[in-house]
Amino acid sequence: MAYDQSNIFAKILRGEIPCDKVYEDEHVLAFRDINPQTPTHVLVIPKGAYESFDDFSSQASAEEIAGFVRAAGQIAREAGAVEAGYRILANNGPDALQEVPHFHLHIFAGKPLGRMIKPPEK
Ligand code: 5GP
Repeated sequence: MAYDQSNIFAKILRGEIPCDKVYEDEHVLAFRDINPQTPTHVLVIPKGAYESFDDFSSQASAEEIAGFVRAAGQIAREAGAVEAGYRILANNGPDALQEVPHFHLHIFAGKPLGRMIKPPEK
C-alpha cells in the first residue's frame, strides 16, 4: 500500500495542522495525543513517510531507527516517567485497530497502567 500523504500526522509534519509538541529533532517529532488515555500520552513519529511499524522496521535507515529509539527513551525520561514506569505501544494494521497510517509509538504514563492485554472473556 502506498503511503497516504493526506493522513493527519503527515499534515502535522507539514505544519498544516497544529500539535502540542514535546520533542523534535532531525528524524523525529513527538506531541501530545489529542485524546489522552493516561495523564501523560505522547505520540512519537518518524519524519519519514512510513505507514506502520512494519514499514518503518523494514525500510528505514539504521540512523533513523536508532534516532527514533533514542528519542523515545529521552522523551519518556523528560516526562519524568522512568521511576514510576511507562508503557510504549505501536498498533500495526487492522487487528490492532491502527487508525492513523503513519507509524507512531504511544508513550503512556502517569498512573498505574493495568494489564497489557485484557484477559479473554470466559
Ligand atoms: P492508533 O490507533 O493509530 O494507534 O492511534 C492514533 C492516535 O492518534 C489516537 O490515540 C488519537 O487520539 C490520536 N490522534 C488522532 N488525530 C490526532 C490529531 O489530530 N492530533 C493529535 N495530537 N493526536 C491525534
